[in-house]
Amino acid sequence: MKWLVRALVVIAVLGVAFGGYVYKRLSTIEVAQLTERAWVLHGFGGNVTLLKTGAGAVMVDSLTFKMQGRLLKDKAQEITGEPVVMIINTHFHRDHSHGNPAFDTAVDVVATSNTLKYLQHSDPVEGYWDGDAAELLPNKLVDGVEDIKVGDQRIRLLHPGRGHTDGDLVVVLLDQGIIALGDLFFNRRYPNIDIDHGASITNWPQTLENTLNQPFEIAIPGHGVVSDADGIRVFQSFLTQLSGVVKAVKANGWTLEQTYQQAELTEDGGYGIGSLPFVYRLDREFVLRRAWEEAQTLN
Ligand SMILES: [Zn+2]
Repeated sequence: MKWLVRALVVIAVLGVAFGGYVYKRLSTIEVAQLTERAWVLHGFGGNVTLLKTGAGAVMVDSLTFKMQGRLLKDKAQEITGEPVVMIINTHFHRDHSHGNPAFDTAVDVVATSNTLKYLQHSDPVEGYWDGDAAELLPNKLVDGVEDIKVGDQRIRLLHPGRGHTDGDLVVVLLDQGIIALGDLFFNRRYPNIDIDHGASITNWPQTLENTLNQPFEIAIPGHGVVSDADGIRVFQSFLTQLSGVVKAVKANGWTLEQTYQQAELTEDGGYGIGSLPFVYRLDREFVLRRAWEEAQTLN
């Protein structure tokens, strides 16, 4: 009986420690100022970009949980002295969008129509956008290129093509020289490639090319540290090589096992391994498997 009590105590202590760790991880948001008017915020989820406009703050992406959205809402007010008036969701993945429901229903939410469609029909959390949360779904859709002005800041919204999904929206803060690429840009780590939602390894390098002619000095990835045009080019070279693997699979009829063994992929040196907790690891095997899967869909 004694051992049972001890075991229960150990389990309880570990549970509290783990809970404390998770709480700390979710409630930590690091802030770095990039220009006089723009900041990047790092937390559990995709990078968040914040812009002070003089007529309310604009926020790009909103982390993974509603509780993080509440923290972002307060942080944005504290940093910029303005309430958030616009959220731009680069794409539908929960680590970029699930903070939305913490915001006021009057907030403009901008995304592509594919992102709206996926939020409504493909969200992994059943019913997440039901009820009041539906008010924080995208209500302003941009599928091409559009320049808008909020306060005294000019913002370009651009869907540069298929890559990470087929609904990614890139945000150029024209007066700050900043581009926020969402998950079209994973900096020095293996990317997620969401083949079920229109991702294309084959198109991705050209999609990035369509962002490189924009006016910017600072490039904010969806995951990883803040970078620049050269950083995007380094990631683009990796994807160009990976699209070569797609072609090689097709041309040689490789099995998945042969793909793992024979694929030429050297541009991933030093890449960090990420994960979608409880879903999959984002590593070399993952991107090669995606390349193999994409080849199966080609005629
Ligand atoms: Zn994503």
